[in-house]
Amino acid sequence: MNADSITTEQMNDELRQQLIDTRDRLLRELAEGAQRRQAESGFPVHTGDVPDAGDTSVATEQADIRNAQISRDAMELRQVEAALARLDGGTYGYCMDCGQDIPLARLRAASAAERCILCQSARERQYADTGPLAVARRV
Ligand SMILES: [Zn+2]
Repeated sequence: MNADSITTEQMNDELRQQLIDTRDRLLRELAEGAQRRQAESGFPVHTGDVPDAGDTSVATEQADIRNAQISRDAMELRQVEAALARLDGGTYGYCMDCGQDIPLARLRAASAAERCILCQSARERQYADTGPLAVARRV
């Protein structure tokens, strides 16, 4: 569909639905992560009764990966909730740095985007943010 042929209302409905779906997925992932962590703290799967250094480091590494995943999800969730608040407040879809419209194609690919691609790239150069989220934000 041509971006110009749909109304702002239709666009907002579509993006709101997308944001809500993302929020639900993140909430589910966070709940599952918390559950797994709880289960594992009660029943150590990767370490025996007398863990050797290798076992412990594998378990630690897996916990680190999971913790990184959880904090990434939590951060994304905050961005999604902020985007939903902007939708309700009527400020959604504008770049928070330069105030220009964020193109619909970008919003469809990254519905929680806070900046246009130019400002986002400038910001990432400034902060040298090379994490996985930075890649997603470059859409
Ligand atoms: Zn901008």
